[in-house]
Amino acid sequence: MIVQKFGGTSMGSAQSICENVAPIVERAARAEQAPVVVVSAMSGVTSQLLEAARKSVEEHIVPEALLGEIKKRHLDVLDGLQGGKQLIAAASAAISSDLGELANLLRALTVVGDLSARSYDAVLAVGEKLSAQLMACVLSVRGMNAEYVNLEKIIPEKLTYDSDAYWDKVEGYFRERVEKVARGVIPVLTGFFGPCDGGMLSAVGRGYSDYCASLAGAALKVSEIQIWTDVDGVLSANPKVVPEAFILERLSFDETAELAHFGAKVLHPFSVRPAVNAGIPLRVLNTFNPGCAGTWIENSTCSLNLPIKSVTSKKGVTLIRISTPLMLFAHGYLAKITDVFGRHRVSVDLVASSEVSVSFSVDGPLEPDGTFLQELRALGEVHIEHKQAIVSLVGVELKTDYSVPARAFEILAREKICVRMISMGDARINLSLVVDEPQCDRTVQMLHRALFR
Ligand code: ADP
Ligand code: ASP
Ligand code: MG
Repeated sequence: MIVQKFGGTSMGSAQSICENVAPIVERAARAEQAPVVVVSAMSGVTSQLLEAARKSVEEHIVPEALLGEIKKRHLDVLDGLQGGKQLIAAASAAISSDLGELANLLRALTVVGDLSARSYDAVLAVGEKLSAQLMACVLSVRGMNAEYVNLEKIIPEKLTYDSDAYWDKVEGYFRERVEKVARGVIPVLTGFFGPCDGGMLSAVGRGYSDYCASLAGAALKVSEIQIWTDVDGVLSANPKVVPEAFILERLSFDETAELAHFGAKVLHPFSVRPAVNAGIPLRVLNTFNPGCAGTWIENSTCSLNLPIKSVTSKKGVTLIRISTPLMLFAHGYLAKITDVFGRHRVSVDLVASSEVSVSFSVDGPLEPDGTFLQELRALGEVHIEHKQAIVSLVGVELKTDYSVPARAFEILAREKICVRMISMGDARINLSLVVDEPQCDRTVQMLHRALFR
């Protein structure tokens, strides 16, 4: 058994669904790989849904035209199919009904004027419900035995998050649900699953269907989790920033976790953990170039003949510096600071300390007068720098190629790029730098050019 997850671009049009995605699933089924399919919403639909929710709540308008557009995009795919009249009629009716329910929910939101995490999830889930029904119908019309599996409500509402054991329980619910699908039938899972404690956007964030694929793979103990996307695999940098970026044949789970966490959007950072725990390899493949072997991600470390594996970046970062002479020779001072972060559930990416100050990088902007900053101010002088970016050099090769940091800083000095923070732990698979956000793309390009000359 294998998991095959298709992202938004793969699901983006009738052409890509019918000419690219369906044949990939068909081939796997014919090769008796027993594919379990996971789909993301059609490209752009999740953002449209979020916009619809915002309009309903803030402007008290149900954006009918936008809903009409979403409906047309899905029904057009069904209209283009040959044969399978009854299957198509049933799928069209189901898609129209889901959109009808969404319109009702949005209408209610215009009155309530407030968006709970639960309502947000109900809106968001529609994207994957529509695309999964579409996919199940396309596969069935082509003669495959496929079944739509809606994971919107597989987590019991009373299950609350207290530790990562929460996700292990979620994995169990995945197993129970998918095992109900008869043998020989291809399950088509909605990449949205829930209701997540706190809501999908804050519990997991955008790109959640990668995590869905990984949870499903681990739950079903598949032999491989395939992430089908719009690039040849994990590359040495984001090809949209560095056009000459090249494909990495192999990566370890640790390297992948670093890359995903520090901005390589090709995989959601959460998707690594279930695969690691279950010892299942992940593979990133290109829907539009299925002949390419993609990137193979597994447990063992692999040193490629490169200085590092990839340069990645994450924007929208905030730097927090706390300085106080009280830190001099003090014990437990750092613990007091991290306790504030922990209680406010602010997660830290990078830390660097000196004898009198400590700096942290966190995602996103901070509320200027929120209790989090007030509590930090009670511990020392706090300096905040918004609009920063983390640029990371990732690869196990950092352990053996001692010249990499020197080469990186040489080019940064030559290009007059100011580095505001540096972090490299003894694990030596990630060297991260913080630069001003407007310098981010240029920094990535310069480092890529210098290191992969
Ligand atoms: P999907 O819709 O299939 O989930 P995403 O847009 O979420 O696709 O992720 C694929 C995109 O990730 C690519 O188009 C690419 O621009 C971006 N990306 C960022 N960093 C990398 C990287 N190191 N390797 C490959 N792609 C990357
Ligand atoms: N459609 C969702 C998003 O855009 C989930 C995903 O693509 O993985 O975030
Ligand atoms: Mg994605």
